[in-house]
Amino acid sequence: MDIQEIRKQFPILHQEVNGKPLVYFDNAATSQKPQCVIDALTHYYETDNSNIHRGIHTLAERATTAFENTRKAVAKFLNANETEEIIFTKGTTEGINLVATTYGRKFIGAGDEIIVSALEHHSNIVPWQMLCEEKGAVLKVIPVNEKGELIFEEYVKLLSDKTKLVSVNYISNALGTINPVKEIINAAHKVDAKVLIDAAQAAPHVKLDVKALDCDFMAFSAHKVYGPTGVGALYGKRDLLEAMPPYQGGGEMIKDVSFSGTTYNDIPYKFEAGTPNIGEVIAFKAAIDFVENLGQENIAHYEDELMAYANELLKEVPGFTPIGTADKKASVISFLIEGIHPFDLGQLLDAKGIAVRTGHHCAQPLMEIFNIEGTVRASFSVYNAKEEIKYFVDALQAVVKMFK
Ligand code: PLP
Repeated sequence: MDIQEIRKQFPILHQEVNGKPLVYFDNAATSQKPQCVIDALTHYYETDNSNIHRGIHTLAERATTAFENTRKAVAKFLNANETEEIIFTKGTTEGINLVATTYGRKFIGAGDEIIVSALEHHSNIVPWQMLCEEKGAVLKVIPVNEKGELIFEEYVKLLSDKTKLVSVNYISNALGTINPVKEIINAAHKVDAKVLIDAAQAAPHVKLDVKALDCDFMAFSAHKVYGPTGVGALYGKRDLLEAMPPYQGGGEMIKDVSFSGTTYNDIPYKFEAGTPNIGEVIAFKAAIDFVENLGQENIAHYEDELMAYANELLKEVPGFTPIGTADKKASVISFLIEGIHPFDLGQLLDAKGIAVRTGHHCAQPLMEIFNIEGTVRASFSVYNAKEEIKYFVDALQAVVKMFK
């Protein structure tokens, strides 16, 4: 991997922030976009802009073909059986809400149980809380140990014939823990529960394979995997998607509309009411191509090297306290420094051109378990260089000295 060559493809990286070269370590929040993604977006608006599926003119055909090509690319990216099993959404949040409001409303009732984990992002907690409130269902939570790993034996104890759905993330955004999703899915299937995998953080770091995992649903966001914001994909097994009622009503999701009765479109269109983010969906394919050209295993391997290097250097920083020390982690280091508030640390790093995230990372229940308000989170991507990590750790050392 030629990191300098990769960096050249990301125009945003070549700027100064507060008089210092930008070091972007907020990749778990959103990744930067390579030139090919920016070009695909611009190309659409400059040459092909048109509404899709409904027009017979050339621009509409070009836009429709490019839009549907992304669907094919996502199906391949996830190793789905069929292109129709891919639904475009606004992102992971919408994918989870879609399952909660369609599958959930139809198939989950009073007394049924839904399992999430203590490691979840709010977007994989609140939709289930809302569903439980509406239906009288019960939300159960898989606990974590002091390293920030799910306690598998406790998970197994929660499973019963009341369990209808398990929804967990593949990789935690707050701590970087990689969860044993294959084992989680196998155990859930033994009690006939369906499983949704929140792959928001996994998509940029591991090879996703819905067939090998045998998950029932998987949701992820384009913007965390070098693609545009406002776009994501939900995978669902065909039989489940067909059995689910539509999500929103409107154009595109219908076959025929009449005041005497409306019939709905086939999957995936049944779930795609209204004009989508056409240009962004089209540019999403450029992001997938970018990842596939580099090779996901190469990306993961390089990011593991960055993590190992950072962990080594960070040990030397006085007061450095990692939060989440799971045996299997990807690209996220969440930490505190004794005596320094995370927000102060974030601001002082920003003054040195370093972008990190501070706060609860949309995982307040997890912060509560660790009895903290939040952490500082540095998260790495394929375009980050070891020199940037060195600069970051030196900056931390300088901040610590300042506070002494
Ligand atoms: N799930 C996880 C694990 C995440 O990290 C995020 C975003 O940070 C989400 C869900 C929500 O993704 P989005 O805001 O793109 O819908």
